[in-house]
Amino acid sequence: MQGKEIKNEAAKKKISKSSLKKAKRFLPYLRPNIIPFAIGFFFLLITGATALLFPKLMGNMIDAATATTDDINKVAITLFVVFIIQSIASFFRIYLFAIVTEKAIALLRLDVYGHLIKMPMSFYSTQRVGELNSRISSDISTLQETFTTTIAEFLRQLIIIIGGVFLLSSISLKLTGFMLLLIPVIALSAVFFGKFIRKLSKATQDKIAASNTIVEETFAGITNVKAFTNEFFEISRYNTTIKEVVELALKGAKWRGAFASFIIFCLFGSIVAVVWYGTILVNQPNSGLSIGSLIEFILYTVFMGASIGGIAAQYAQIQRAVGATENLFDLMDEETEAITKPSKNVKLSGTVKFDAISFSYPSRSDIQVLNEVSFDIKKGQQVAIVGGSGAGKSTITALLMKFYAISEGTILIDGKNINDYALSDLRSQMAVVPQDVILFGGTIKENIVYGKPDATYDEIVAAAEKANALEFINSFPDKFDTVVGERGIQLSGGQRQRIAIARAVLKDPVILILDEATSSLDSESERIVQDALEKLMQNRTSVVIAHRLSTIRNAHKILVLDNGVITENGTHEELLQIENGIYRKLSNLQNENIHIQL
Ligand code: ADP
Repeated sequence: MQGKEIKNEAAKKKISKSSLKKAKRFLPYLRPNIIPFAIGFFFLLITGATALLFPKLMGNMIDAATATTDDINKVAITLFVVFIIQSIASFFRIYLFAIVTEKAIALLRLDVYGHLIKMPMSFYSTQRVGELNSRISSDISTLQETFTTTIAEFLRQLIIIIGGVFLLSSISLKLTGFMLLLIPVIALSAVFFGKFIRKLSKATQDKIAASNTIVEETFAGITNVKAFTNEFFEISRYNTTIKEVVELALKGAKWRGAFASFIIFCLFGSIVAVVWYGTILVNQPNSGLSIGSLIEFILYTVFMGASIGGIAAQYAQIQRAVGATENLFDLMDEETEAITKPSKNVKLSGTVKFDAISFSYPSRSDIQVLNEVSFDIKKGQQVAIVGGSGAGKSTITALLMKFYAISEGTILIDGKNINDYALSDLRSQMAVVPQDVILFGGTIKENIVYGKPDATYDEIVAAAEKANALEFINSFPDKFDTVVGERGIQLSGGQRQRIAIARAVLKDPVILILDEATSSLDSESERIVQDALEKLMQNRTSVVIAHRLSTIRNAHKILVLDNGVITENGTHEELLQIENGIYRKLSNLQNENIHIQL
């Protein structure tokens, strides 16, 4: 299932049995802290009960106005004690619920991240990662908010409403009956308004997520934006979505405003009605209703009114949380790759055979990217793939790394189908030096050691030396501890590549995949990088995606790929012999000193 579908489905769902079932899966995250949760719950009951005592004591106080000062003081002192208990209980309720929730949310975040990072490449190529990311974080904060405050508030209001009805009936059944007649009107309208408001707020959230995607994507691809001077284009694109957000938000606000004014009207209207009827009852000698009881009654009514008003919003928030949990667990139900700890026993020697591989990406099954591709690479040989952009070069390497499941044909490594290897065993013996090296925001050392997390300092230095990177690293004042990226030194393309080469040297892979940089380096750094690459390729099975013919003359085999089909296959000399061959044409162009880059 894809992210978009998950979202749309969840939007349609109410709290149904099945969604509750899914939402229940959040409970195990709360379980390790069940004791603080239970204590928090106990304090919650206390705050509910003490809130209910308040109107009663206020009524007592007013009735005591006609009694002695001692009685008045007694009631006042009791009121203070109740307040003190309530404040202490509130503190612990909030703090304990926060402890439980924060810990549960941390566990959930870790689980979701752990799950996502193990998702197969096919998942990432069908997702807009920015949108996914902002959706997950908004789902998680909905859960966080719900569990820290909303659920507690919801329960407290419920205690007040239910307790309130009992206490009201104990004061005056007649008056309670009268008041309860008014409730369905308010409740029904709350349901009606609530529906609209929820719909609109959901639509607004989706729009906000979409506008955040623009921000994230443009920042991530800022070079592109700048290079195409598309700043104004992006601003106007962002502006359009922002305007839509405002429009939706204002529409929502209109409904919320109408709802609030309606409720206020109903609330005061019912208070006036209750006071009116209550006063009539007080005036009747046999009703048994004192002025103090009437005040008590009115206060309970106000309390209950406020609770009823609040509980609708809290219910909506709980509903959102159920939806959010459902979203998250739908994601957790998607199948991950079988990532395991690589076993030490599997040591590849590095022969590779592609046997009649035909392939389409799962997201675009109508387009055949590779068509009956067959070739083999002997242990330690270098194979270069040449072909225009979109010919399928990267796809070949992606299949070799088992990024996608193969449907037609087989890939054999050391004579064994790659599907019969554990994924981690395969990838742990491969390394990639990509075209565009992205370094993490840490130090140079951290970036190199990524190839072998347990490497010693001497190993790191040796790898850097082999990658022709030692000299420039040592020229920085902090040497290997130099921070790279945003908050540190910006490295040149050639330097970044040599770091990536050092990373690969450290990993010491049996199979190496090189994607030559298309961005041309100056000839000096190109020579240094090329030299480092050649050292790295020695005695390793290497697949090179070549963008310059000059670098692959010595390859054991060159594959010319055209639209997913291997059209030529041989050494440099062999391919030059092919009459009307693509390679020969390209090579001639280069001999005429026309710089070509594939
Ligand atoms: P090359 O590396 O030769 O430039 P690729 O292997 O990257 O070519 O791409 C071959 C074809 O597959 C192109 O048409 C490209 O649009 C398509 N393609 C590449 N990656 C994906 C993907 N993740 N999902 C769908 N189609 C893809």
